Amino acid sequence: MASINKEKCIGCGACVSICSEVFEMHEGKAKVKAQKNIPCVQEAIDSCPVDAISK
Ligand code: SF4
Repeated sequence: MASINKEKCIGCGACVSICSEVFEMHEGKAKVKAQKNIPCVQEAIDSCPVDAISK
């Protein structure tokens, strides 16, 4: 289960670029639009500059 810490998220959009099947932008922050167990979730976690994504 991926989740976004909205307090930490700076809205850079990297996770959405990397894994648009799981993440989308909403009001300037990332949100999880669908829980999917696919490799790009980990790529997004590794790429988030503020470690806002966990699973
Ligand atoms: S990569 Fe991290 S900081 Fe950037 S939009 Fe996604 S959750 Fe927010």
